[in-house]
Amino acid sequence: MNLARRVIVPLDVSPIAPALGAVVHTLEGGTMGTRWCVKFNGPRQFDVARLHAAIQLELEVVVGQMSPWEADSDISRYNRAGPSSWHALPPEFAQVMACAMRVAADSRGAFDPTAGELVNLWGFGPPGRGSSPPPQGVSDDALTRSGWQRLCWDGGKLLQPGGVQLDLSAIAKGFGVDQLARCLNRHGFEHHLVEVGGELRGTGVRPDGQPWWVDVQMPPAAHGLGVTRIALHGLSVATSGDYLRGYFDDGAWRSHTIDPRTGVPIASGLASVSVVHAQCMEADALSTALTVLGVDEGMAFAREHGVAALFIRRDAEGWTELLSPALQALAQ
Ligand code: AMP
Ligand code: MG
Repeated sequence: MNLARRVIVPLDVSPIAPALGAVVHTLEGGTMGTRWCVKFNGPRQFDVARLHAAIQLELEVVVGQMSPWEADSDISRYNRAGPSSWHALPPEFAQVMACAMRVAADSRGAFDPTAGELVNLWGFGPPGRGSSPPPQGVSDDALTRSGWQRLCWDGGKLLQPGGVQLDLSAIAKGFGVDQLARCLNRHGFEHHLVEVGGELRGTGVRPDGQPWWVDVQMPPAAHGLGVTRIALHGLSVATSGDYLRGYFDDGAWRSHTIDPRTGVPIASGLASVSVVHAQCMEADALSTALTVLGVDEGMAFAREHGVAALFIRRDAEGWTELLSPALQALAQ
């Protein structure tokens, strides 16, 4: 590890001590087009295969409900459904939808769970990438069919008003992390670090009493800014970034993060936003929302809502980082 430029530590420290004689186990696998990894304290010998299967099953539930890449998932069925149809959502899907709708309302649509058609049009969804970006008229049409305000949601059933394509990719990985943390707790492994595709959550401490230290994901070219290291003790961190997925088209970088208010990929100059929160689902949704809002609006949002966020900006002068007041309060 490099030397950390700053460390982020939680204000609350849990009194649970690690069990004597525990060792760190690591389990890994594939999910949601990426990798998952859990580290946890456990006895030297136990039924690791059973826990591995329980974790994989937990993730299959998330994918089976919320992946638009699976034709039989609940979300794909909803996306294909005719206008004016109501859909009973399974509890996990409903929980994610409730958070997605709250963040959509708070961010005034910068985060929008109905961005699916726009995401597909720009080549980041299941249909894949066409030979060129969508012509203006086509993305304008898609804009008229999307918008979280078109949804009717009574906490259990969701209306398909017609043509809405849900995409929960900006929040489902974080939810998957939270589900794995709950799964580990149920199996009695309360000291753990969970990761799904770069989104992380840690609880308790390692057998040596140290917290689960992680370095915030940074754009590789911004390494000059130094490392921000976090003690994930009852905390999660999620990162969104325009550099993480995208393609060059006619000299312009098309990021996988779309501004649902304009229908085009973001060009805010923000390379990444990392959010620290107790729940990984919240951190995931908020990091996407702040990436779309950009530095000024995003910082104002973080200040107003007490969000702990690290913004990495790229401009002609180079790289700068900005910490929201809630993150500054945790920084040493
Ligand atoms: P994340 O890496 O968490 O920021 O999620 C990015 C993914 O969420 C993209 O690949 C899209 O599938 C989807 N997405 C893109 N823009 C938005 C947006 N403004 N609101 C919600 N989901 C989005
Ligand atoms: Mg996200």
